[in-house]
Amino acid sequence: MEQPIYITLDYELATGDVNLNEIVYRLKELSDSLMLKILEQILKSYDDLIAERLTRTDIYASKQRKGLGRHLRSDDPNRRFCRGRKVRKRGYRRQPRKISTVFGDLVLRIREVECLTCGARYCPLLRALKIGAYAHKEMNFEHEVIEAVIDTNYRRLIDGRSIDISLGGIHNLVVGSDIDRLYQDSVEVKKMSAVMADGTGVKQQKGRKGELRVAIGITHTGNVEPLGCFTNTHWSQIEQIVKERIKQAKGLDIPFVYDGEPGLDDFLADVAQSQRCTWHGPRGLYHALWEDGLKKKDSQPQTDKLKQLIGIELAEGDFQILKDEDKQPVKDRYEASKKQIAEMIKLFKDKGYDHGAAYLQNLSERLFTHVEIWLKTGVIAPKTISLLERVFREIGRRLKKIAWGWSDKAVTNLSKMIMIKQYSREKWEQYWKAKLGIKGYFSIQITSVTS
Ligand SMILES: [Zn+2]
Repeated sequence: MEQPIYITLDYELATGDVNLNEIVYRLKELSDSLMLKILEQILKSYDDLIAERLTRTDIYASKQRKGLGRHLRSDDPNRRFCRGRKVRKRGYRRQPRKISTVFGDLVLRIREVECLTCGARYCPLLRALKIGAYAHKEMNFEHEVIEAVIDTNYRRLIDGRSIDISLGGIHNLVVGSDIDRLYQDSVEVKKMSAVMADGTGVKQQKGRKGELRVAIGITHTGNVEPLGCFTNTHWSQIEQIVKERIKQAKGLDIPFVYDGEPGLDDFLADVAQSQRCTWHGPRGLYHALWEDGLKKKDSQPQTDKLKQLIGIELAEGDFQILKDEDKQPVKDRYEASKKQIAEMIKLFKDKGYDHGAAYLQNLSERLFTHVEIWLKTGVIAPKTISLLERVFREIGRRLKKIAWGWSDKAVTNLSKMIMIKQYSREKWEQYWKAKLGIKGYFSIQITSVTS
């Protein structure tokens, strides 16, 4: 149907006094309530049109009632749909329906009709608008609230606008979200140069401390590919889920980078090759030697040495044109470093630095994976988890702002949303378009504005 809407506005203007800013300021104030009135008008016309088509079966052919008047047969225990499409108008329900919209609260009059075939009473407009029987908000509203929470400006969204939602309401929106759908597709591992995972503490309900764990992939172009977010979940369970998402035929020449978190030593072992974060390595050694009783000035020469041993520079550029003699210096240094680390371990053992020896032993087995991969394939893979730490900072900053009373599910879902919005913007937009059901069935233009 094509319909005009007429808008009449009155304005008063202090001639000679008013400035442009004030005019714009007042117009801006008007916009939400104007939209709400237009929405009301469109729904009213639509309701009339539907009622007209369902009552005047003498004028309208059945194909003009397509998509209208669907209802369950009255008193049918099997809850089947009625074939009847001819109705009698039965006025309006006493209670209008309040629906929260992005423009503010819409108060919708609910017209009822009675089916002449089965006698059922129903509201054809709610059916036509695909509003559930008990829905009290539309999805754009949810979209704006979620976006505001992620951008940490939800206070501004609510204050000074007719939007009304409590912290508890936001919690429910986040918990009820189906964002998990976006974390189920399989991920093309061919496009990735590393997988990494780590955990960080988060404050939850009643000051309880929880742990948020995140797994990401790094693409060849250096982008973050979210693989999963988990709250208070065991690593073995996370491993299973991540593995299911990674599409691959055989063991891969990509590293799994981690900072030495217990439980991650053999994470994804049959998919990727463990690489301890080379930035955390020396720090971990400092801590282990401190446990052995060494002061910083005594352990520093050792941690500095380790730093230098793992700092092997790999030549960037096309591996195909690298000759063996280009690779040889790296190979030599790699072997020398391994040897010197073995000597360090022996030295620690001789001196009785048991923690230091055990730490370095464990570290040494997973320290040069990126060098080995380069020697084999020429791909320079990440060797630190700095990108993942940036992800944690992004999530943490937002969770902290609103983090009271967040349950496991809320922390998980919100983190998932933050990651998708931040790193897969296109997916995020598609997700909302699909949820909103934007399919090109409604368009509106301004024909003229005159006075
Ligand atoms: Zn019926």
